[in-house]
Amino acid sequence: MSNGVRPTTGEAYTDGSGAFVPAVERIERGSGIAGERRVRADVCVIGTGAGGAPVAKELAEGGMRVLMLEEGERRSADEFNARPRDMTALLYRDAGQLATIGNVPIVLPLGSSVGGTTLVNSGTCFRTPGGVLEVWARKFGLEQLTVEELDPYFRRVERELNVSQVPAELAGNNALVVKRGADALGWSGDFIYRNAKGCVGSGVCAFGCPTSAKQHTGQTYVPRAWQAGAVTYSGCRAGKIVVEGGRARAVEATTSGGGRLRVECDAVVVACGAIHTPLFLRRSGLGLDSGQLGRNLAIHPATAVRAEFAEEIDMARGVPQSFYIDEFADEGIMFEGAAGPPDYLAMSFPFSRERHRDLMLRFKHLSQFGVMVSDRSRGSVRERAGRVEIRYDVGPDDVELFRRGIELLAELYWEAGARRVFLPVHGHAEQTEPDPRPLRDAKPRARDLTLMAFHPLGTARADASAACGVVDGDLRLHGVDGVYVADASVVPGSLGVNPQITIMALATRLAFHLLGEPAPQHEPEPESIARPRVGRAHGVAA
Ligand SMILES: Cc1cc2nc3c(=O)[nH]c(=O)nc-3n(C[C@H](O)[C@H](O)[C@H](O)COP(=O)(O)OP(=O)(O)OC[C@H]3O[C@@H](n4cnc5c(N)ncnc54)[C@H](O)[C@@H]3O)c2cc1C
Ligand code: SF4
Repeated sequence: MSNGVRPTTGEAYTDGSGAFVPAVERIERGSGIAGERRVRADVCVIGTGAGGAPVAKELAEGGMRVLMLEEGERRSADEFNARPRDMTALLYRDAGQLATIGNVPIVLPLGSSVGGTTLVNSGTCFRTPGGVLEVWARKFGLEQLTVEELDPYFRRVERELNVSQVPAELAGNNALVVKRGADALGWSGDFIYRNAKGCVGSGVCAFGCPTSAKQHTGQTYVPRAWQAGAVTYSGCRAGKIVVEGGRARAVEATTSGGGRLRVECDAVVVACGAIHTPLFLRRSGLGLDSGQLGRNLAIHPATAVRAEFAEEIDMARGVPQSFYIDEFADEGIMFEGAAGPPDYLAMSFPFSRERHRDLMLRFKHLSQFGVMVSDRSRGSVRERAGRVEIRYDVGPDDVELFRRGIELLAELYWEAGARRVFLPVHGHAEQTEPDPRPLRDAKPRARDLTLMAFHPLGTARADASAACGVVDGDLRLHGVDGVYVADASVVPGSLGVNPQITIMALATRLAFHLLGEPAPQHEPEPESIARPRVGRAHGVAA
């Protein structure tokens, strides 16, 4: 095999003719397991999202007997009706109602099916910025994680997922109107690179892709793992890891059929995500030595600014997250598309009664765009009375970043020709003229902001020192043999960009290490990739 160049523009994104169709479905449903069952595997992977699925596929293709435990069920496009209300209940954990406790509540949705959160995510793909890796090396001793070291793993992930750039004609008017404002102001931005194949711009990525174009892990890595012999036990919740003689020996799980499953194995890869991995490790009595488990939670908090235009936009059409602006990424502010169908906007518009109704009647003339902050604030996760408790206070630096980001996005909307701009700030919900002073003078507090977050990270952070982190730079749990963590929880701080392919590249690297294989040498070079201006790790530097 030669390196070659993999197309990432033009038809690369829309061509679904070569879409992967799994030949086998090796899935055991927990609903069918009512009694006790024992099974044997070389490696038990817990979770099938961005972290778990790539490890499972690579290990299975490398010849290992792999068993995936997944609490959720397998969902397919046949069940996706593109209605946010139905799909949120079907595809999100706790019907999308999970939220933080702190100086402002922040909704933090997580996926709950085979494919984890990748099934409901927006598909945006950015490599880990080099400046972030440099800070990781300095601050966490992760010197081995360089741009050059990770390059072959990124290439491999990007090929597996067909990461390619949204063409302008599918980006939707929502993106084009924002691009018009950015161009007028001379701000840097571009169409987003995404894991899609045959995308038709139906606008509901966060509610289950009805055409199976989005290359989430339940659609790609998991079936490829099956093809190589791995098995997924869905509806099976891992309860704890059994350690004997300083080494992992088994995983105990409960099934949705009321049964119990014991997986005897030589190694365990934990990939339950940044909220559930620390809780699971704690239940197993593992990862406690550094005192860092469940702490250092970064979330990339986000909000959205909306604007009304005379022209028709219809943000329900096109790829919802298709354009980004990185002009202020070095300050810790990224702007990314956040469009969607009317009921999505209706849920989050900060108005009620007639005003809400009147604005929703103008839906086709409304635009919405996201502000994401590379946070310096940190939170924590723990279990209390059997429930997840996420504590997170937005610190004053991050509040100020939001104020600045909202002000900048409002400026862009006015430049693009908006008639009215709607801000996610209590007491400043509507601007009727381009005047930033009222918001500036008001000095908003955290509790004045309407926030969401999509990227929990860092709760089992990697650090070369066992005294400071939960896993080492190769994702091995400090202090016990045979346990690894490969998900968002190991990412030691904010990335300033969306995390899914960082997690996948780290997970792929772990799999190659477990197989004793060198990095893949023949992955094609992408024709082009996103190069956002994230020069230094704003959020990590705190
Ligand atoms: C709406 C939305 C949009 C997003 N958009 C983007 C985007 O465009 N680009 C991007 O890079 N990122 C995006 N993200 C974030 C990205 O999807 C996540 O960072 C990523 O999926 C995290 O991977 P993970 O493996 O850590 O966790 P997950 O993908 O959440 O996978 C964890 C899996 O573990 C399972 N699990 C948990 N506990 C157990 C247990 N005890 N036993 C068995 N199974 C268990 C869960 O059911 C889940 O399937 C978005 C997130 C959301 C919510
Ligand atoms: S825009 Fe529609 S077709 Fe394209 S990935 Fe999203 S849900 Fe699938």
